[in-house]
Amino acid sequence: MSEASTNTNMPHSSKGISKANPVVTDKLDSIDMEAPEFKDFAKSMVDYIADYLENIRDRRVLPEVKPGYLQPLIPDAAPEKPENWQDVMKDIERVIMPGVTHWHSPKFHAYFPTANSYPAIVADMLSGAIACIGFTWIASPACTELEVVMLDWLGKMIDLPSEFLACSGGKGGGVIQGTASESTLVALLGAKAKKLQEVKATHPEWDDHTIIGKLVGYASAQSHSSVERAGLLGGIKLRSVPADENNRLRGDALEKAIEKDLADGLIPFYAVVTLGTTNSCAFDRLDECGPVANKHNVWLHVDAAYAGSAFICPEYRHHMKGMEKADSFNFNPHKWMLVNFDCSAMWLKDPSWVVNAFNVDPLYLKHDMQGSAPDYRHWQIPLGRRFRALKLWFVLRLYGVENLQAHIRRHCGFAKQFGDLCVQDKRFELAAEVNMGLVCFRLKGTNERNEALLKRINGRGNIHMVPAKIRDVYFLRMAVCSRFTQSEDMEYSWKEVSAAADELELSEAADKK
Ligand SMILES: *Cc1c(COP(=O)(O)O)cnc(C)c1O
Repeated sequence: MSEASTNTNMPHSSKGISKANPVVTDKLDSIDMEAPEFKDFAKSMVDYIADYLENIRDRRVLPEVKPGYLQPLIPDAAPEKPENWQDVMKDIERVIMPGVTHWHSPKFHAYFPTANSYPAIVADMLSGAIACIGFTWIASPACTELEVVMLDWLGKMIDLPSEFLACSGGKGGGVIQGTASESTLVALLGAKAKKLQEVKATHPEWDDHTIIGKLVGYASAQSHSSVERAGLLGGIKLRSVPADENNRLRGDALEKAIEKDLADGLIPFYAVVTLGTTNSCAFDRLDECGPVANKHNVWLHVDAAYAGSAFICPEYRHHMKGMEKADSFNFNPHKWMLVNFDCSAMWLKDPSWVVNAFNVDPLYLKHDMQGSAPDYRHWQIPLGRRFRALKLWFVLRLYGVENLQAHIRRHCGFAKQFGDLCVQDKRFELAAEVNMGLVCFRLKGTNERNEALLKRINGRGNIHMVPAKIRDVYFLRMAVCSRFTQSEDMEYSWKEVSAAADELELSEAADKK
């Protein structure tokens, strides 16, 4: 605890490294950089983390700070001399927590969930301790090999067609990407490399530039913004195909878009089907789009970032019908399967297109075992990668498939409960079918009324939601997000919505007078 002890550990280092006293190599061992108390800091943080999570529901979900709140609370520059870890610890509540939006509070209903569990946090700690950069097999064999096996475990849990699994002995296999956005881009780049090669075989007179100018990809107008972004980053045209009245991409709409582009001399090469859209958790008709993509030799990528976790429950797998027609599939255990960010699971039926598209092979990354296990650096955009498979391993073992299924079913049940409360109140209507853990709802009437309602809800600060808009209809989204959520939390959140609606009606009545 003593203030002096951390400081007295440092005099050699600050003296030794300063410009006035160049380092004398025979004294290097006497330079003691690290206070022995640092490990106490680590242990103390573990207790803090547990206290934070166990009592999270008592915190105000949305912070009340204004932009720029933080700078005045800390010095302008890094300290010259080491500080005490206890002071750093105290500053978490003083500096950080007032500016935290508590995503794991049962009162947080914005966006989609992001996962959180002790087994995953502990795995992240171990990953931080090992701190390897697993870009090749030899860079840390356990990092690569556990990932291969975990993606097989996970694939089997959702009954993914065996061609996607490494254990099938075919070409297929899985990889952990950081995010669904990266998966969409990686798949697009693989598809682009594949189509370039195919077209060059039939049109040797065309150069890359000519071919790339003709490439065109497809996604529903309801697909995530990261799909449009992948098109921009990948330097190709991407068509937004209209969804049906239930916000699903249909086979005939995809077919029509592809036929039109073919007639115009363009080259369709990539299509994204979304299972569980971000706006309303709609499910594109994979069973219809798959055959269309296959017929036109278009790479089919399936983005199930949020809803994919639900496929561990057999009753939700009908949405996956037609998956055998896809080339790549992705979902985020870091959204809804209790694995902390980041862990986005991606499977490829034939990874060689992606691997070859990104393959650069400098001497310092070569090793003797190349080819006998995946060198995951070729499967992703960055070179460096963390030991993320540990999170999957700990979570899958410590919860078991059964409890993960229970987690999904509980959240779906809470959404149904909230949806029922909503339709029982005659002032409200559902804006879409209640799917998974998402309820899309609105006050009957204009968009402006609903904008005002959301402003009041978030302004009260007790719960937090975000809106969406489909075909010019604005609505509110209530996502069940927290592992700590109970039925009473749904009642609480509904009461907040209802109270905000009362306030709004009073102010509307006052305006009329
Ligand atoms: C959340 C979401 C994404 C983006 O996920 P990241 O992992 O943050 O890139 C993409 N698609 C869908 C359908 C999503 O719900």
